[in-house]
Amino acid sequence: MKEKTTAVVLAAGAGRRMHSDVQKQYLLLGDKPVIYYALKTLQDSFIDEIVLVVGHGETQYCRNDIVEKYRFSKVKQIVEGGKERYHSVANGLKTIDGDGYVFIHDGARPFLSEEMLLRSYEAVRKYQACVVGMPVKDTIRIVDENGFSSMTPNRETVWQMQTPQVFAAALVKEAYEKLLVREAELKERGIRITDDAMVVETLLNHSVKMVEGSYENIKITTPEDLDIARSFLKK
Ligand code: C5P
Repeated sequence: MKEKTTAVVLAAGAGRRMHSDVQKQYLLLGDKPVIYYALKTLQDSFIDEIVLVVGHGETQYCRNDIVEKYRFSKVKQIVEGGKERYHSVANGLKTIDGDGYVFIHDGARPFLSEEMLLRSYEAVRKYQACVVGMPVKDTIRIVDENGFSSMTPNRETVWQMQTPQVFAAALVKEAYEKLLVREAELKERGIRITDDAMVVETLLNHSVKMVEGSYENIKITTPEDLDIARSFLKK
């Protein structure tokens, strides 16, 4: 029997690197806002419910101009996010119970696919925690504080993390509860939480399985990304 599946879609980022007055998730890609595409894939997929996390004061706009306009009937909650990405995730997780699985997805990644959702669903049922990503194409170097390269990790072992990041609901809720309690201490130790896999690993010491994503599953961060996304859309 299929267990309950909930998607938490993040759209509360300020998008400073986009240099635009409009936040990146609302910029037009084709004739629709960036956030439309991931929501459409989720709406048409096996996912049961969607929680949409939006910026301060944007709930009404998102309800009218995104959720109702495009008939995203699976969006059951719209909540406001917080300062850091992990605050936004925590706010989304607070609205769901501990049953089934949670798919956390960046609203700024329009090229989510049903295949990715299915691959990660299969993995999460086996491992309780998995993340979509791809092996890097470039050689990566670790650079020291003086700007000199200090180490080159083996390219085959370096992956770029994408979303969805998918977890058993009870597990990820526990990890985020612990994170909020220990937030100050982790900050002091210089640990900067940038994705959900880190939260589960750092706070619960739970391993996270990598699942193949796609090189098209980009995050719209800078104006160049929008140009690339437009060319993917044309295909
Ligand atoms: O900032 P970054 O590019 O890592 O954002 C990834 C995703 O997380 C975006 O979809 C963005 O809207 C979301 N985010 C959020 N709340 C924040 C920061 C980012 O929902 N405070």
